Amino acid sequence: MESANNNLKQEAHVLIFPSPVQGHINTMLRLAYALSFSSGVRISFLNTDHNHRLLSFSSPSQYSRFSLRSNFRFLSIPDGLPDDKPRSTLYLTELFDSLKTRSVDSFRALLLAGGNRDTDGWPPVTCVIVDGQMPYFMDAAQELGIPAILFRTINAYSLWVYLQIPQMMEADELPFPADADLDVPIKSVPAMEGFLRRRDLPKMCRGATKADNEKLQLLASNSASATRSKGLILDTSNSLEAPILSKIRSLFPNTYAIGPINALVESITSSSVSANLFAEDRSALSWLDSQPDRSVVYVSFGSIALLMEEEFMEFWNGLVNSGHRFLWVVRPDLVANATVTVKLAELEERVRIVAWAPQEEVLRHRSVGCFITHCGWNSTVEGMAAGVPMVCFPWLWEQFVISRLVGEVWKVGLDMKDMCRRDVVESMVRAAMEGEKAEELRQVAAEMAVEIGRSVGEGGDSRLDYERLVRDILSLSL
Ligand code: UDP
Repeated sequence: MESANNNLKQEAHVLIFPSPVQGHINTMLRLAYALSFSSGVRISFLNTDHNHRLLSFSSPSQYSRFSLRSNFRFLSIPDGLPDDKPRSTLYLTELFDSLKTRSVDSFRALLLAGGNRDTDGWPPVTCVIVDGQMPYFMDAAQELGIPAILFRTINAYSLWVYLQIPQMMEADELPFPADADLDVPIKSVPAMEGFLRRRDLPKMCRGATKADNEKLQLLASNSASATRSKGLILDTSNSLEAPILSKIRSLFPNTYAIGPINALVESITSSSVSANLFAEDRSALSWLDSQPDRSVVYVSFGSIALLMEEEFMEFWNGLVNSGHRFLWVVRPDLVANATVTVKLAELEERVRIVAWAPQEEVLRHRSVGCFITHCGWNSTVEGMAAGVPMVCFPWLWEQFVISRLVGEVWKVGLDMKDMCRRDVVESMVRAAMEGEKAEELRQVAAEMAVEIGRSVGEGGDSRLDYERLVRDILSLSL
């Protein structure tokens, strides 16, 4: 494959750098793997040293598959924090501050070292694809004359809401008091009138403190930083978000909507890709094997969300009272500052708890009937690509917009935001698993999965945008 590149003046060498969190690594690694199947492209995938160690330890089989590709390699740089410092949810602000202040020099040095053939004999980096949460790395690359493409792991509607934060503030729609009526519609966000309510904005908008306002402004300015890049990659498709994508394209004309990337990579390489910072418990799959078709509720709140002890117990009791079987991912740090105990013994037949699951495989398993999710964008597209109806309990940031889309726009699930009560959990689970509503949700979810497959398959809108991205990456090396 690479010999096809001999007559190019310079080989295309893309350095891909995700934020050091699970969901972002998964999506960008999927893109990296797909790109490694393109003729004439080399990929360096950059992690922090800390995550590089975790990935090789937690996902040895996934990890080794990449080393089989001669045009793919992993690199790492320090994140600037001491080795023994935790990197879990409560420390994320510190982690990102450290990256911004302490890691840009290492990043620059790495690019400069690749400026001449580096120690592996690889050619110079001709393009970087940087996570849009860290635009300072994009700026560092461009200062060295290396073109940078931004990658946003969020969907188009969410990006659009972030971009409109200054307008919402100007229109006095943001922030609003903590006790405000949350069902009041938001009017100043074009193309979202009619379904966006206060309730669907990031939770920190409610009674925002000065620090929250600063965070909101940072979300807006990070989003706008795409104007400084060569292009913007979004993990979405026209078939999911056409009206908003056209708005985004009016601001960032060179937008590549190539998602859902979990489905795209599978269509291109005939294999699914994910890499975990946590050790997978594959016994979840054998347990699912022994369950009847569509009988299990899969529950996962992703890698970052935290539940209060009361919330955990409301979910637990709602699930138990629903009478359905369930498989729940309970990370050791899922419940903030508490250890919860539940009576598992008498429920052993119908309940399975794991610390981390092979999620994409679980979602595709015939025995899974619905997915209780926090609506992280990866989990949402993984659920949609598998055609599984969802019950949404968003925790933070854009998850509030996404759960509204799932319930009101795509209609592939039910949005239970702000109603963490056992009776609501029970009735939502029943609605998604039993009777007419469940049948309707299944039907729409199945159609959505087909539409996603069409859009990432040969000739589909996402696939065409992906092919344009590959051509542009190659042309940046000429
Ligand atoms: N995930 C997984 N096993 C689990 C829980 C989550 O593999 O037990 C993966 C999931 O497939 C997804 C990612 O972790 O790719 C979570 O990303 P998402 O954007 O949904 O949420 P975040 O963790 O960023 O809040």
